[in-house]
Amino acid sequence: MFLRPFRRNDSPRDHYYYIKFITQPIVSERKLKDMKVLICDPVDAQMKRTLIDHQFSVDYMPEIDDKQLKSTIGNYNIVVVRSRTKLTRDIIHLGKNLEIIARAGIGTDNIDVKYALEKNIEIVTAAGSSISSVAELNVALAIDLARKITLLNGKAREGVWKKETGIELWGKTAGIIGFGRIGYATSKILVAMGMKILAYDIYHNEQSMNEIGGQFVNLDRLLNESDFLFVLATLSDGAEKLISDEQLNMAKEGTFIINTSRAEFIDGKSLLDHLKTGAIGGYASDVLWNEPPKEEWEKELINSKNVIITPHIGAQTVEAQKRVAEYTIENLFKRIGEMTL
Ligand code: NAD
Repeated sequence: MFLRPFRRNDSPRDHYYYIKFITQPIVSERKLKDMKVLICDPVDAQMKRTLIDHQFSVDYMPEIDDKQLKSTIGNYNIVVVRSRTKLTRDIIHLGKNLEIIARAGIGTDNIDVKYALEKNIEIVTAAGSSISSVAELNVALAIDLARKITLLNGKAREGVWKKETGIELWGKTAGIIGFGRIGYATSKILVAMGMKILAYDIYHNEQSMNEIGGQFVNLDRLLNESDFLFVLATLSDGAEKLISDEQLNMAKEGTFIINTSRAEFIDGKSLLDHLKTGAIGGYASDVLWNEPPKEEWEKELINSKNVIITPHIGAQTVEAQKRVAEYTIENLFKRIGEMTL
């Protein structure tokens, strides 16, 4: 057995999110050793071990570049990626034997999903694996902006010992854009800290919302009333620049924005203008328009004193990485099982 079962003393949150343990032989009819797997990005060692233990033929190339990938992808039935490897149409097209793309993570915006599905290639992900890690990062970034921790730490290191006044989160309004798994988990912590929750989502999960005592509102109202805006939606076609100049103008004076989902939701140049004037009080983000940053305005934004940037570390915890491996493997095996029935 390779995956840990749910244990009695796991926390309720573990219980809530923990996936079913695999106890059955996964695939009976298909010869797994004939299935070739290419792992393109660095993944938890357990994932590679589990695949090999189940007789898959595995090649681990965590630093493979586009050129190498194009020349070898034709040999594989399964390709595993995190966010570094971009599976574009050109690359997928060369995957003559490709049956499954396993995204060891959540977002699939590094994969041409539409084209893959057209070619009958299945896509599996590790949805739900990093909920707590990202939720905790959201709260940490909000407190950091509110109390200027990163800014003052930098000054203290430079020998400047000067107090600056921050604000509390208690009693303030959090506007959650995207009340999905991470939106809900983040809201739960924020409620415990005394915040009021407003949420904007294209889908209304009333049950979860009732549980935390928040309210779904339209985007305009959310922008008007929120002291802290959390961008936590999944990026789909047409959702880019959901927050442009017009929406930023609607935001409450001095509001703080926290974004751990995708930078593309926000018009970056317009955000920079609003940060310069103080109309937006601060921006803390785990994601960029280009990772690493490329454009001059992006570099200027990162170096603004009211901006905090982390290099896409939302799921970068020991616990989340382990879960990513477990969930990806479970979903992959489930899919192979279904394909061979
Ligand atoms: P989820 O699918 O559970 O929830 C996303 C929510 O966004 C859904 O409720 C959906 O209805 C909503 N949504 C989609 N399009 C929308 C739109 N145009 N306007 C408003 N709402 C919209 O996803 P999740 O697991 O909670 O993940 C949320 C985001 O966090 C994703 O973008 C994911 O890629 C990102 N993420 C980042 C990291 C990181 O390392 N920073 C790690 C994990 C997830």
